[in-house]
Amino acid sequence: MNSLILNVAELLRKPGTERAFQLESTIEALGIIEVRLPPGAVRVNVRLDVLSDGVVVAGTVHAIWKGECRRCLSPVGGPFEVPVQEIYQSKVTNPDAFPLERDQLDLRPMVREALLLDTPVAPICREDCAGFCPVCGADRNLTPCTCVAEVRDERWSALDTLRDESR
Ligand SMILES: [Zn+2]
Ligand SMILES: [Zn+2]
Repeated sequence: MNSLILNVAELLRKPGTERAFQLESTIEALGIIEVRLPPGAVRVNVRLDVLSDGVVVAGTVHAIWKGECRRCLSPVGGPFEVPVQEIYQSKVTNPDAFPLERDQLDLRPMVREALLLDTPVAPICREDCAGFCPVCGADRNLTPCTCVAEVRDERWSALDTLRDESR
């Protein structure tokens, strides 16, 4: 079953027509294999604008993503939304257009592309995530370590040494 294919034979006879659709599919049905896109629902809200030589599809694609905070590696994720705008043509004259074959508007390639290109990358779990300490490896959100202070102390002592030498 795939609900992202619309028969637009009727609409193609009426250039100038606008029609909105709310469609649903799943990551699995789209054949997407991507760790940041776990199996689950994909919702697609689009408006079709029928032209004399094709159909403009514009709207949004909604799905769930998951990942790891780039600073502390804790799991992050949630719903995300990708805006889409594409043209479909029966006779492809626009190099960016998707083919519209036998009056079947197949939104799957558009949705796949949108999701794969726009999945959030290198997220952080929260603005002030302290992450891991590069010196001792402690998760500084859980265990504040003293490494930063020690580094600063070393710098001060280096400065003191310089001062002593310049006397
Ligand atoms: Zn984090
Ligand atoms: Zn540390």
